[in-house]
Amino acid sequence: MATMDYKELRKAMVRDQLIPRGITDPRVLRAMEEIPRHLFTGPQLEQHAYDDSPLPTADGQTISQPYMVAIMTELLELQGNEKVLEIGTGSGYQAAILASLAREVYTIERFEDLAKNAAERFRMLAYTNIHVKTGDGTLGWPEGAPFNRIIITAGSREVPPPLMEQFGPEGILVAPLGDRFSQRLVRLRKTRDGMETTFHTPCVFVPLMGAFGWPENRK
Ligand code: SAH
Repeated sequence: MATMDYKELRKAMVRDQLIPRGITDPRVLRAMEEIPRHLFTGPQLEQHAYDDSPLPTADGQTISQPYMVAIMTELLELQGNEKVLEIGTGSGYQAAILASLAREVYTIERFEDLAKNAAERFRMLAYTNIHVKTGDGTLGWPEGAPFNRIIITAGSREVPPPLMEQFGPEGILVAPLGDRFSQRLVRLRKTRDGMETTFHTPCVFVPLMGAFGWPENRK
């Protein structure tokens, strides 16, 4: 709808969906207020872009609910100088948020059409610090490693072992871990003494597929 004021809807999204649920990082709130989520949904769903829910994308996948994007981003504690790896590009919205808060974003999507559409959106919005590739994200992006941060935006039972190797000391990884139909956000932090694990909000993500994900032949 041409008459919708998306800037106002974004303000309302931050005010009504993010702040009341406890998102406090001012940089995260600002990024969510500035980045045009409606340009990542495709034209048919544009008017729902700021709804308090996930939205479908091509290939039966989803764009996460705004709150889920915000809390995952907040848990990454981005200061601005990080190299971030995202598994599951989808629409590209989460990657765009990350790219506005970190130095460099590498993002992997298993479906080529999603990866291509996302790359086109990044070009249109003049992002120069996002690298997209089509492939199996459970293998990570060895040529780009080590990363300061890793975010997995599809659900799995455990963190794929190659990803555990691809974030460095003081690094943070955030992922929805659990069973196929319900998970919990988990944050791993590599400290000098080992790994620190914290558990966060329950969530439901589409399954992480691939060599270290769920098997392809079960839907
Ligand atoms: N971050 C996205 C939401 C992603 S939904 C956004 O902001 O829109 C999860 C995505 O993970 C889907 O697009 C799905 O195709 C992708 N995915 C699932 N398994 C994958 C794998 N092994 N490697 C790369 N992408 C994967």
